[in-house]
Amino acid sequence: SKWVYTFGDGSADGDASMRNLLGGKGANLAEMSNLGLPVPPGFSITTEVCTYYYANNQTYPADLKEQVEAAVIRMGRLMDAKLGDPERPLLVSVRSGARVSMPGMMDTVLNLGLTPETVEGVIKLTNNPRFAWDSYRRFVQMYSNVVLGMEHADFEEILDHAKEAKGVELDTDLDAGDLKTVTAKFKELVQKKLGKPFPDTVEEQLWGGIGAVFSSWMCTRAQTYRRLNKIPGDWGTAVNVQAMVFGNRGDTSATGVAFTRDPGNGEKYLYGEYLINAQGEDVVAGIRTPQPITKLVRERQGGKKPSMEEAMPNMYKELLGIGQKLENHFKEMQDVEFTIQEGKLWMLQCRAGKRTAKAALKVAIDLVSEGLIDKKTAVQRVDPAALDQLLHPTLDPKAPKLKFSTGLAASPGAAIGEIVFTADEAEKLTNEGHDVILVRQETSPEDIHGMHAAKGILTARGGMTSHAAVVARGMGRPCVAGAGSIRIDYDAKCMAVGDKMLKQGDVITIDGSAGVVYQGRVPMQKPELTGDFNTLMNWADEVRELKVYTNADTPTDARTARSFGAQGIGLCRTEHMFFDGDRIVAVRQMILSETVEERERALAKLLPMQRGDFEEIFRVMDGLPVIIRLLDPPLHEFLPHKEEEYAAVAKSADLSVAKLKQKANQLHEMNPMLGHRGCRLGITFPEITAMQARAILEAALNVEAEGKKVIAEIMIPVVAWKQELDFAKDVIETVAQQVKKERGKLPQYKIGTMIELPRAALRAGDLAQTAEFFSFGTNDLTQTTCGISRDDAGPFLTEYQMKGLLMRDPFVTIDRDGVGELIKIAAERGRKTRSDLDVGICGEHGGDPDSIALCHEVGLNYVSCSPFRVPVARLAAAQAAL
Ligand code: ADP
Ligand code: MG
Ligand code: MG
Repeated sequence: SKWVYTFGDGSADGDASMRNLLGGKGANLAEMSNLGLPVPPGFSITTEVCTYYYANNQTYPADLKEQVEAAVIRMGRLMDAKLGDPERPLLVSVRSGARVSMPGMMDTVLNLGLTPETVEGVIKLTNNPRFAWDSYRRFVQMYSNVVLGMEHADFEEILDHAKEAKGVELDTDLDAGDLKTVTAKFKELVQKKLGKPFPDTVEEQLWGGIGAVFSSWMCTRAQTYRRLNKIPGDWGTAVNVQAMVFGNRGDTSATGVAFTRDPGNGEKYLYGEYLINAQGEDVVAGIRTPQPITKLVRERQGGKKPSMEEAMPNMYKELLGIGQKLENHFKEMQDVEFTIQEGKLWMLQCRAGKRTAKAALKVAIDLVSEGLIDKKTAVQRVDPAALDQLLHPTLDPKAPKLKFSTGLAASPGAAIGEIVFTADEAEKLTNEGHDVILVRQETSPEDIHGMHAAKGILTARGGMTSHAAVVARGMGRPCVAGAGSIRIDYDAKCMAVGDKMLKQGDVITIDGSAGVVYQGRVPMQKPELTGDFNTLMNWADEVRELKVYTNADTPTDARTARSFGAQGIGLCRTEHMFFDGDRIVAVRQMILSETVEERERALAKLLPMQRGDFEEIFRVMDGLPVIIRLLDPPLHEFLPHKEEEYAAVAKSADLSVAKLKQKANQLHEMNPMLGHRGCRLGITFPEITAMQARAILEAALNVEAEGKKVIAEIMIPVVAWKQELDFAKDVIETVAQQVKKERGKLPQYKIGTMIELPRAALRAGDLAQTAEFFSFGTNDLTQTTCGISRDDAGPFLTEYQMKGLLMRDPFVTIDRDGVGELIKIAAERGRKTRSDLDVGICGEHGGDPDSIALCHEVGLNYVSCSPFRVPVARLAAAQAAL
């Protein structure tokens, strides 16, 4: 079968649609070739070979070798060169490329094909010994690192020594002779460390490179990245072998990366950086600080060195044209990598550009006005999860600030946290509940877990396209990169600017939108939502079928959610109201009561407070449904937990400490999650249900009297049997009759049930005889279906994910096959009994895009999520409907 697909010279075997087989990079290199763009020729070895490799004990299909050889010969013919030929040597890069881009996860080897013989050929052909030895030096270093697994730092040390010995600072100050010596030393080091020589045949080099790419698919950092980004391990990577073009051939050569629009704000111009006389990874690695591509940006930054637009105007124009051509073709903003060899532009990569939420909105809307895409496509282009970035606070411009340093505005948003200097420390402290800012000289793929754990990232080195910047933008973490004035001392765990010093644990604030670092905590302010945001949200609302409610227990939350477009409250928990201020005293009296009369007296104190709470919420939600859940948690949660508190509580409850403790012991449960909670409380103490029902009904009447419209829905938690529901309903209806007698009328109200136990889901047909609506409490439903306690799941579920047993944490995304099926069954059976049954979900899952997609498929009426997730849910619901 066909394992190898060639590209280059205006045509290709593959195209952009074949990314599963060729990887994203390979597929797009093929597409660019088909478009007639200048792509150095090469070939892709398919992801199927990767699958074969791992299924067959790290070996290749028998016919791979001859296909690779043929493709190498074709490539040589196009380049007028031949791999290993001492006269006209062909040099190649070996590049990985998974289906989705995994920045920095897999390793690329450049300049492969250099040997003691071919380097002489390169010197003769180019008449440039320095270039030849520089390339060879780089190749030995990269290959030793990537393929042979040696430490990068050991090679840097040799290079640093050479510079010191010569008394120079830059790599570029080393001449051909120096580099030749360095290369020899590199090879000696390999021999010494590995006990075998550096490979000097091109075959060994090539197959070593190919093998390294396939092996790197399973390396720890790639696995970590896949786990964090939910990429299946069986996709595999392709390998791309491509003829080298050289950006390090002097001052008419360069290399760079560019976005067709600003990935920070969506503005349309060539955004990016380039370096003259440099090769590939120099830009990304942050070794030299690159210059901007456009004049506009150079001027904005006040830079002295010329932009590419100024230094190489023709190349700039050509790149601009190619960028536009790619945008028109892909109908999407592009991120390209290019190299200029002696005045000729070559395209090395293109893909859809990663961008911030703000940019995503602007680009999507601009592409619609430019006529490239329609509204529905625009709605699909914005990642709902990324909207989070827009809804979160920024620094208060008026607040006093103590500036520590400045750097590049690498990823927008503000973050506050304690300084840590290692990724492990960041992860550890975050797990302990701290907010941290990860501070590094520069980041590398080994730091991913720490970047993920941190609230924000600060680096002392690197540009806008450095590893830290790219990864932070992808993760939505604020980042200030390349704050060059900062000196970091990892050993002493501190950093300094001039004589200002901060140590590990000190708090800083970073502003990733402005590129500034402040000492201490800077107050934040609410985000301002732009016109673009509303435009896209309106387009989303036009297509979605699910309604979006919110979980809100306070008028403030309700107001926030309404301003974000919530169409009702799907879950108003009443227990939070029980903790407020001195209410807890009355609550405790109620719990400690020995008789019904005592309990009713205590409840009578709570009634006006609850009624007041509901009135406020009904006012805010004027005209929209409010689903109020009756008291859910076990009563001992309201009793003191600390020794010191007992005396005070005993006094206020007029009990002895001993008696109080005895009572607390009685209420103690082995497994409160499955204990005396939910509707079970109301069965033991119907007075509680009665009080809450009265508070709701009276509040509704009072607010209606103000001329507002109230839609009250009373929800019974933790129901397993219809009898439980009937019992609660009886209590509520009895109260309702009393209220009607007293007030002469009743508000519009409904009684429904939570579905959070598998029995309830299965018997939904019975429950719907009583319940007028269902709300899936997916947190508890997940706990009870999977038999996993959410509070204890953290450590072992992480283990599951690391070992590849579960791709997703079922408490983040609904377990489709198990919990999802129960939801489906319950919705069907419930609606069979009552065709107009309203069905939705509340709980953390209501704000998770994948879970929302499931809710849409199952045909629920709404999802309910926390206020800040409402826009996310609106967009996710729209995407589910498209
Ligand atoms: P990544 O997936 O990390 O972006 P790439 O395979 O794109 O890795 O390689 C990194 C860089 O190496 C490229 O951006 C490019 O500058 C350089 N590079 C790769 N292949 C070639 C080539 N054939 N000629 C010149 N430079 C190359
Ligand atoms: Mg790389
Ligand atoms: Mg690349």
